[in-house]
Amino acid sequence: MAACHCHAINSKLKTMKLFNSLSRKTEDFAPINGREARIYSCGPTVYNFAHIGNMRAFLFADILQRVIRIVGGYEVRWVMNITNIDDKTIRDSALGSAEWKHEMGEQSDDAMTNLINLTAYYEKEFCEDIQKLNINLSHFSSLPRATDYIETMHALIKRIYDNGFAYISDGSIYFDVAKYRKYEVYGKLHKIDFDKFMAGTRIDADQYGRDEACDFALWKARKADEPYWEFTLDGKRCDGRPGWHLECSAMEYELLGLPFDIHTGGIDLKFPHHEDEIAQSKAGYGIEPTAFWCHNEFLEVEGEKMSKSKGNYFTLRDLIDRNIDPLDIRYSMLSSHYASVYNFTFDDIKSGRKGRKRVQDYIYSLFDGAEGEDEADIFELKYMIFDALGNDLHTPKALAHLFTFINNNKVGSLSSHAKKELLDMFKEINDIFDVWQISPRPESENDIPGSIIKKAEQRLVAKRAKNWALADALREEISKAGYAVKDTKDSYTIEMK
Ligand code: AMP
Ligand code: ZN
Repeated sequence: MAACHCHAINSKLKTMKLFNSLSRKTEDFAPINGREARIYSCGPTVYNFAHIGNMRAFLFADILQRVIRIVGGYEVRWVMNITNIDDKTIRDSALGSAEWKHEMGEQSDDAMTNLINLTAYYEKEFCEDIQKLNINLSHFSSLPRATDYIETMHALIKRIYDNGFAYISDGSIYFDVAKYRKYEVYGKLHKIDFDKFMAGTRIDADQYGRDEACDFALWKARKADEPYWEFTLDGKRCDGRPGWHLECSAMEYELLGLPFDIHTGGIDLKFPHHEDEIAQSKAGYGIEPTAFWCHNEFLEVEGEKMSKSKGNYFTLRDLIDRNIDPLDIRYSMLSSHYASVYNFTFDDIKSGRKGRKRVQDYIYSLFDGAEGEDEADIFELKYMIFDALGNDLHTPKALAHLFTFINNNKVGSLSSHAKKELLDMFKEINDIFDVWQISPRPESENDIPGSIIKKAEQRLVAKRAKNWALADALREEISKAGYAVKDTKDSYTIEMK
C-alpha cells in the first residue's frame, strides 16, 4: 500500500526545487548522472565543541540529503569533511597544559602529535553530538579528515601553479587573483568591489572579509613549532601546511568527482571560503566544483550570529545540562525554514517541545483500539507534505499541513483503514524529520526527565525539613526547565508547563 502510494506521489510531484546561491534563483533539481546526488558539506573545525549554530548547518545538510532520498527518490553520496588543520586547530593545539584535557592524550613536545590528539578528541565528541540530534553516521559515505588528503592537495597546488594561477613567495604559495580575473569571474557568490582590490597583496589568514579580497594562501610556509609537511614545488622547498579553502577543493574532487551536485555550508562561508573553492577548482581542474551551492542562514541570539568568538553560544551539551531533549532542538530548528534566520530562545525550544509532543501523542493513539467510521484523504496529506519538502525543503509548511490534519481529525473517529494509512505515512515522513517514535505508547512512558523528578524529591525532603529557601530554589529550577511542581497532601505532582 505504502509503496504504491509512494510511487503515485512521486509521479504526481513536480521536480524537486532548490534555491541555488550561484544563480540566486530557485531551480529544478535532479542529479547530474540522473541517479545519485553527490553532496559535499563543509564540516566542523574540530578545535572545540561545536555550538548549536554550527549544528544548524549540519542539520540542514541532513534534511537535504533525506529529502533527496525520500521525496526525490534518488540515491545519495554524502561527504562531510573534518577540518583538523587550519589556523584555529593549530592555535589551540599549542595551548598550554591548563587547557589540555586528559582525554586528548599526553601533551607532547611534538606539534603534529598535539594537533592530531586534540582534533581526534573533538572529532569524536562531534560525532557523538550529531548522533544525539539524529544525524546518522551511516548516512555519510565518508567523513574525511584534511590531514589524510595532503597528497591530493599537493597535486591540486601543482596544477594551479602549472596553469599559471599561483606563485611562491617566502615559501608560501598564493593564488593569483588578478591573473585569474583575466579569464574568469572572481566574486560569483558575493560581488566584490574591485575598485578597492590591490593586486598582488596577500592574505595568510584562513578567514577574511570581502573588503580584504586579495591573493589568498593555498599553502602556508612552515612556522617554528607548528605542524608541517614537506613539499617541493618547481624545485623550491615549500615545507608547510595547506590553506583551509584548498583542503575542501582537493577532498571534494577526490571523493565525489567534478562537478558534483550540491555543496552546502552556512552563509558565512560564501566568501571567502566557497568563492575561493570555485577559483581553485576552475584554475586547477578546469571545472567548477558543483552545480548547486546551498547555504543555510544563521542561528542568532538576540539579533547576532551565534559564534564562538562572540561568546554568545551554547553547545549541545550546555543545553542537555539544562534538561533539554536534543530532539526538541532538532524539531525546533526544522520548524523554521533553513534560509531564514533562526532566532534561538528557550521559549522557542519549549514550544517546539510541545509541538513535537502533540504529534507524538497523536501517533501513539493511532495504535489504540478505538476507531470510528471516518475516512480521510491521507494520499492528499502526504502529497502536500512531500510537495512542501520538495519545494526548497519547506519544513515549516510541511509541519503546518500535518497540524491542520491533526486539528481536523480526531483519532478516535478515524476508520481502521485510515489509521493504518496514516501510520504508514508517519513512518515515511519520520524518515525525514526523525523526531518521533512510531510505536504504541510505551507502558513506562513518563514525560518527566529523571533529573526533574530528582529535584522534586529533594524539594519534598527540604519541605519536610522546613527548609523553605531550598524548597523554593528547587521549585524555581524545576520551573526554569519547563515543569511545574504542585503540592498534594503528602507528596507532589509534576506537569509540563
Ligand atoms: P566551523 O566549524 O566554524 O567551520 O563551522 C561549521 C559550519 O557551521 C559552517 O557551515 C558554518 O557556516 C556554520 N555556522 C557557523 N556559525 C553558524 C550560525 N550561527 N548559524 C548557522 N550556521 C553557522
Ligand atoms: Zn569547506
